[in-house]
Amino acid sequence: MKTYKHLFFDLDHTLWDWDANASETLIELYHRYDLGKYGVLNADLFRDVFFHENTILWKELDAGRIDKFYLRNHRFRIVMEAVNANMKSIKEDLLVDINANFLKECSQKKRVIEGAFEVLDYCKDKFDLHIITNGFEEVQSIKMEYSGLDKYFDKIITSEKAGHKKPNAGIYQYAIKHTGAVLEDSLMIGDNLMTDIKGARDYGMDQVYYNPLGQAYSDDVTLEITELRQIIPFLEG
Ligand SMILES: [Mg+2]
Repeated sequence: MKTYKHLFFDLDHTLWDWDANASETLIELYHRYDLGKYGVLNADLFRDVFFHENTILWKELDAGRIDKFYLRNHRFRIVMEAVNANMKSIKEDLLVDINANFLKECSQKKRVIEGAFEVLDYCKDKFDLHIITNGFEEVQSIKMEYSGLDKYFDKIITSEKAGHKKPNAGIYQYAIKHTGAVLEDSLMIGDNLMTDIKGARDYGMDQVYYNPLGQAYSDDVTLEITELRQIIPFLEG
């Protein structure tokens, strides 16, 4: 049984509950900006379409086909068009304002994935814990602070700091060097088969695939879990 020393966690959707926090924020914004008057039928539709379009944009971002400025500047326009809002009545300022408030308010939400604190409490004295994230530099530390995740982690490696995005080997190389970790003693834990799992595997790092919906896949992974706490018996060996 292998003994690990350094655990590298992804943040969004792995520890920090992006879906729950974003959902709450989008519903609040729908009501505050009274988006019904622009022809957005209801808050659930606004949220669901945002999730759909944002996922597509993040895949484009992870693949390097768009940058974060494009994503930020366009996503709410794309959502409004997709829900058949009355675009003539929507000024650019409104979309800029909604996006700014979404970023600010969502990052201050506190919900974490079920089992996150249990796992981190178990791990904190046994391993060196780090984050590797493609999320935006300016919001990731706020998310960690407000949710209480920050106290568990030694280093937060963001793609912007590393100059490379997962799954590029450059960010894993940066993470190993920056934390003083040894590759063979390191484990990556994340929910994304491409960025977290393939990225780590290609670099030679063991991986834990957090797959809460039990989605079918054909990749080789060191371990698959559907609940975070399932990692504890694996780490105990
Ligand atoms: Mg993730």
